[in-house]
Amino acid sequence: MGNNPSEIIDRVRLFLNQQAELYGDEILFSPVGETSNVDTGPVSPSAQPTIGNRNDEEKRDGNPQPTRSESHLRETQPIYSRTEAEASLKQKSKTIKVTEETSLFDGAVLKSEWKIDPRWYESSSLQELNSRISGCLKCVLGSTRRSFVFGVGNPNAKLVLIGEAPGADEDEQGEPFVGRAGQLLNKILVAVQLRREEVYICNILKCRPPNNRDPQPDEVEACEPFLKKQLEIINPRLILCLGRVAAQTLLKTNATLSELRNNIYVYQGIRVLVTFHPAALLRNPNWKRPAWEDVQKMRKMYDEL
Ligand code: URA
Repeated sequence: MGNNPSEIIDRVRLFLNQQAELYGDEILFSPVGETSNVDTGPVSPSAQPTIGNRNDEEKRDGNPQPTRSESHLRETQPIYSRTEAEASLKQKSKTIKVTEETSLFDGAVLKSEWKIDPRWYESSSLQELNSRISGCLKCVLGSTRRSFVFGVGNPNAKLVLIGEAPGADEDEQGEPFVGRAGQLLNKILVAVQLRREEVYICNILKCRPPNNRDPQPDEVEACEPFLKKQLEIINPRLILCLGRVAAQTLLKTNATLSELRNNIYVYQGIRVLVTFHPAALLRNPNWKRPAWEDVQKMRKMYDEL
């Protein structure tokens, strides 16, 4: 491979186009050899307002980390050779339509339709899915993450716990809930006779938002299909949403955590309960008692599955 700047730009364009195609976006960069006006990377458009506010609970633990330099990215992100990228782009893939129903907080049913690229959607195991999506650059977080935090636990779990997004420790270690909040989560599980290995743990977003800010709507839009596929493969019977952001995102509502906590919802045909985020419990121990009631209820439902 040459080091001539225009060849490097071509290779980067090819790689980004390949990513855009793989993850179902329109091609964002002009074909190799043509001048493109776009030079900001495959970042989803419109900055939309974030769901809810974060006054009622703490976020992911960990300290803000500086954005990593491009040179680090070059070390960790695969840059395909010109031939590989061209060959891949020539294999034009069709998108498939996936429809689903979510029962919302107010009892209404939301029908959604997703256009999905079969090259990852047809994965039949978690491992395969992870390997096909872990290079994702569909939103801006792909360029700031250290790790793509897919999820951890029993691939046949009856119970899936869903948090918001990786924090600094998770980004560092590539596993969800491994920091202080994760340690508390482990204790909560033990308190209801469950082990981390028995359940499955993941997040709404697979990549850490800088400074642990709330996930943005375009990031959720880009990442939620991966979560849906994960759930389809695991086929759990019960989901426990950890915190407001996970619950609001999954249930497409702006209702507060206290409004959401005492009901049972359905997401992709799976029953959903909502409780506090463990990081919120670290910050406000008064919430531990109601959280304990939530997890006991969850344990009872789990036993009845
Ligand atoms: N908080 C989350 O929501 N998810 C993690 O993985 C860690 C902390």
